[in-house]
Amino acid sequence: MRQIDHFISGGSPAPTGRTHKIWNPSTGEIQAEVVLGNAATLEAAVAKAKEVQPAWAATNPQKRARVMFEFKALVEANKQELAELLSSEHGKVVEDAHGDVQRGLEVIEFACGIPQALKGEYSQGAGPGIDVYSMRQPLGIGAGITPFNFPAMIPMWMFGMAIAAGNAFILKPSERDPSVPVRLAELFLEAGAPEGLLQVVHGDKEMVDAILDHPDIPAISFVGSSDIAQYIYQRGAANAKRVQAFGGAKNHGIVMPDADLDQVVNDLAGAAFGSAGERCMALPVVVPVGEDTADKLREKLIPAINALRVGVSNDPDAHYGPVVTPEHKARVEGWIDTAEKEGAEVVIDGRGFNLQGHEDGFFVGPTLLDRVTTDMESYKEEIFGPVLQIVRAKDFEDAVRLPSEHQYGNGVAIFTRNGHAAREFASRVNVGMVGINVPIPVPVSYHSFGGWKRSGFGDIDQYGMEGLKFWTKAKKITQRWPDGNEDLGNAFIIPTMG
Ligand code: NAD
Repeated sequence: MRQIDHFISGGSPAPTGRTHKIWNPSTGEIQAEVVLGNAATLEAAVAKAKEVQPAWAATNPQKRARVMFEFKALVEANKQELAELLSSEHGKVVEDAHGDVQRGLEVIEFACGIPQALKGEYSQGAGPGIDVYSMRQPLGIGAGITPFNFPAMIPMWMFGMAIAAGNAFILKPSERDPSVPVRLAELFLEAGAPEGLLQVVHGDKEMVDAILDHPDIPAISFVGSSDIAQYIYQRGAANAKRVQAFGGAKNHGIVMPDADLDQVVNDLAGAAFGSAGERCMALPVVVPVGEDTADKLREKLIPAINALRVGVSNDPDAHYGPVVTPEHKARVEGWIDTAEKEGAEVVIDGRGFNLQGHEDGFFVGPTLLDRVTTDMESYKEEIFGPVLQIVRAKDFEDAVRLPSEHQYGNGVAIFTRNGHAAREFASRVNVGMVGINVPIPVPVSYHSFGGWKRSGFGDIDQYGMEGLKFWTKAKKITQRWPDGNEDLGNAFIIPTMG
């Protein structure tokens, strides 16, 4: 069986003997296994990272950018292979896997501009003969712990910014689809990066805890589910590390009575069911405003959902593929059971879905639930599957309140032709990323990404200038070059600029 190993350059730590199986979600077969490491594996990676990082930090930013440019070219040249590999372990369709790689690459493109982004600030003559300037310096070794659902994009969001800024990076990807992260690290080396600058260690909680407790790792970026995110944030912070930890989501799509419903249905089909709903920026809750809007929307949604084609991940005509593991399929179907017991109306039922010829694959049919209410557990929690819930809102105020009061605050969208309503909604809603007639408002790479409430712990966002801030520390320098003729003044009084 194919074995996926760590990608580390320091020493050869003894294997732990523990492995994790890698499924092919389309066929239900085990296609590989990944080795699981421990503190000794991490130690080897950290030792190598410590050795190479100072020279990398001292490499001028233009030369660092050249490695980024070269890496971008290599990822582009290998995009089809990466997308197919990603799709075979994750289950998302190949075209969507291309998007996963592309959205990561866009952050690499931003990181190519590191010489410009790292230019500091300078104030000449801040006092008599005094100048003040600031610079951003790398932290040393950064670590990233990533989820299964974007195995290319999220690692690139993290290591692209961290490494361009002068850090070494240790990535602990999801143990469910680890091949693409390893492939990215190989390409990074091929791009001219020093050996050991980007390393990949595999593992589960044991490895994560080793990272959280390692004294030589000053910063950790995490993306995954909320309970784990909170744990990472707390334990990392208790160890005096800088931590950003992004969690789960339950994004709402508000549909105002004046919205173009055909457009909304088209957008919702992709945003709720694309990637089998396994996206933190999916739209699994639709909130039509008023009963009339709800009835009209439901009428249009039913045929659109019934027309969705579920297929194996390399079927070019499939809208979406299987979910990632058999456990996840059972979990999603369990949430549909719960919703039904709680009184939701199961309008379209995706449970027990069988794809002919692929009966062992982890497929869940598209599901539509109506008359979902805010007291239901199936509304409060993240389902992370191809399930769309309709929550009917009385009016605009109700529509602002629902996502604002939800425990998660990652993304939200409003569909309307009314600029005033959109503006009002965007300014009042208690959610981190807002789309106006845009169903999946993931900000472009030169802005930043981050949700609120239980979708994001810590106070600095991912990528863009926020990412740069996260992976560097600011140094502030106040200088004076006296020529010996100055009035020495009273050295016992706190200096002021007069
Ligand atoms: P997960 O929380 O199960 O795993 C994420 C990472 O944490 C993995 O690397 C995993 O090995 C590690 N991990 C798992 N259990 C752990 C434990 N007990 N202790 C320490 N580490 C542990 O998440 P997932 O299922 O891989 O990904 C899906 C989740 O990620 C969803 O909740 C989704 O909303 C969220 N997500 C959030 C964002 C965002 O930006 N907010 C983006 C993508 C995914």
